[in-house]
Amino acid sequence: MSIQFGPEYVRALAPYQGGKPIAEVAREFGLDEATIVKLASNENPLGMPESARQAMLEAVQDLGRYPDSNGFELKAAITAKYGVPQDWITLGNGSNDILELAAHALVQPQQAIMYSEYSFIVYALATQAIGARPIAVPAKNHGHDLKAMAQAITPDTRLIFIANPNNPTGTFVPAAELEAFLNQVPSNVVVVIDEAYNEYLAPQHQYESIAWVRRFPNLLVSRTMSKAYGLAGLRVGFAIAQPELTDILNRIRQPFNVNSLAQAAAVAALTDREFLEKSAQVNTQGYAQLTKAFDAMGIEYVPSYGNFVLIRVGDDDGAGARVNLALLKQGVIVRPVGNYGLPQWLRVSIGLPEENAAFLEALKSVLK
Ligand SMILES: *Cc1c(COP(=O)(O)O)cnc(C)c1O
Repeated sequence: MSIQFGPEYVRALAPYQGGKPIAEVAREFGLDEATIVKLASNENPLGMPESARQAMLEAVQDLGRYPDSNGFELKAAITAKYGVPQDWITLGNGSNDILELAAHALVQPQQAIMYSEYSFIVYALATQAIGARPIAVPAKNHGHDLKAMAQAITPDTRLIFIANPNNPTGTFVPAAELEAFLNQVPSNVVVVIDEAYNEYLAPQHQYESIAWVRRFPNLLVSRTMSKAYGLAGLRVGFAIAQPELTDILNRIRQPFNVNSLAQAAAVAALTDREFLEKSAQVNTQGYAQLTKAFDAMGIEYVPSYGNFVLIRVGDDDGAGARVNLALLKQGVIVRPVGNYGLPQWLRVSIGLPEENAAFLEALKSVLK
């Protein structure tokens, strides 16, 4: 018998599956990289902001030195933007890091972590990685059922993840419902509101979660620089919470978890209002372009508040994988979501107008 390493719950982990890289699809299907359209990872189709590129070029001079482990400049930029003191901020190597820090710092093996069905898969991974017990509450209309979640809280529940808007379904919980939920959660249970797509919300849907952080010591709001800010490759995210909770997270944070280039770029991107507005605008237009075509083609989709759309591509449980493969052969990369329990669906990130058009054309020919 071969030696088995690690605890059973770690051996049972199914590793995170990201969007296929362009180079890999080019190799596998014998395609020219330049013709491939990638709409698979909710990246910003505008790429990175020029302001961030310039900031990084300057920061390159100092790469012989360690990063600032406290991220002074970046925290100052977050303070300026959101009006919270520096000891309310935790920096992460992507917000994925923040989510894992929360699980590791707040939950023991056997205690419970709650999240919704069809919610971000990293919640399930972070739960399993520490040997905690998952409470996956059935979704309602593909989104969070907060009433059911409040009722499902057990005495050993320590952490609740809520993605708003949610990935991969694009659903959104309005502010009033979220606030009512926060009022019901026991004060020893930490709620993480993962707002990775917050910057894409239309003004009428924006809400003041930072104001809630002032009221609820058990609330942590997570943000990322990977989506609307266009810095997915650099890995920067941050959390805002009251000092007691922030302190606990920072006790287990790696001292240099956000590298120097990432810190410099994030400072520049945070204050680049023009880029953020452009990103939101491209997204709004792309969403209209895609959903208009889906309507015309009779394709069911979940109305989305993020920079992606979940579409149903067939009635049988092989549909998602089959259509995905056919799209790959045509050089279009989207995201199958069978691992989320949605085998009939695909998630499509919203791209530039020409990328959306290429995807729609490929989809039409595949579904014909
Ligand atoms: C993309 C995404 C993240 C962010 O990931 P990073 O690690 O910051 O790149 C976090 N939460 C959700 C729900 C996401 O979709």
